Amino acid sequence: MKIFFLGTGTSQGIPVIGIKDPVCLSTNPKDKRLRSSILIEWNGSHFLIDCGPDFRQQMLRIDNQKLDAVLFTHEHADHTAGLDDLRPYCFMESKAMPIYAQKRVINSLKNRFDYIFATEHRYPGAPSVQINEIEPYQEININDKTILPLLVNHGSLPILGYRLDNFAYLTDVKTLDEETYQNLQNLDVLVINALRLQEHPTHNNLEEALQHIKKTNPKKAYLTHIGFQLGFHDEVEKQLPDNVFLAYDELILEL
Ligand SMILES: [Zn+2]
Repeated sequence: MKIFFLGTGTSQGIPVIGIKDPVCLSTNPKDKRLRSSILIEWNGSHFLIDCGPDFRQQMLRIDNQKLDAVLFTHEHADHTAGLDDLRPYCFMESKAMPIYAQKRVINSLKNRFDYIFATEHRYPGAPSVQINEIEPYQEININDKTILPLLVNHGSLPILGYRLDNFAYLTDVKTLDEETYQNLQNLDVLVINALRLQEHPTHNNLEEALQHIKKTNPKKAYLTHIGFQLGFHDEVEKQLPDNVFLAYDELILEL
């Protein structure tokens, strides 16, 4: 399994437009973060988790030729705003792109991208999607690969994380239920969000992320969905436990 970190930034990315913070002005490429998303290549299948506003740029950057399915964590714009840019993949293979999300998220996408989901008078250039409603802890099977959606609490909003074999990707976490902790045991790699040092009502700060990692005890953990307030990549990484790393854009993991 190969994990491509397409973006590792919080909702506004880094740099943030108009902000002259030193981290936003940093010339280190690891301090430049597009909106959070990963691509998973697993025995020839390509699964995307989240399709944010930087999706087109992210696909061009790694020259990705194929996409088998899109899994959404939740409906917020930094995770969904790239939906229209699925078009090239629909045209390449003349197929509707399978998308997987909770019912509430599908409804939100239908409201915001009504032309994509229209059944009558469809604009010929619109992307086609094939809808799959999913629920936490109900395994899904795509191309003979088993994927387990997990319940994540984004503040009071119930959203999804995903476990694929011994890899799990969780973003926009604030708290996790006991059942999710149980399903996160024996991981080789856990990816989880850490926004900044200060508390936030709906996202982990660094300390909370480290607590979730301690409780799940993966071999290695990578932090994502990072805000500029967390600090410089190279400085923050020095202060982390031995098995915890900051993810960065264009990082590739092989499992
Ligand atoms: Zn987000």
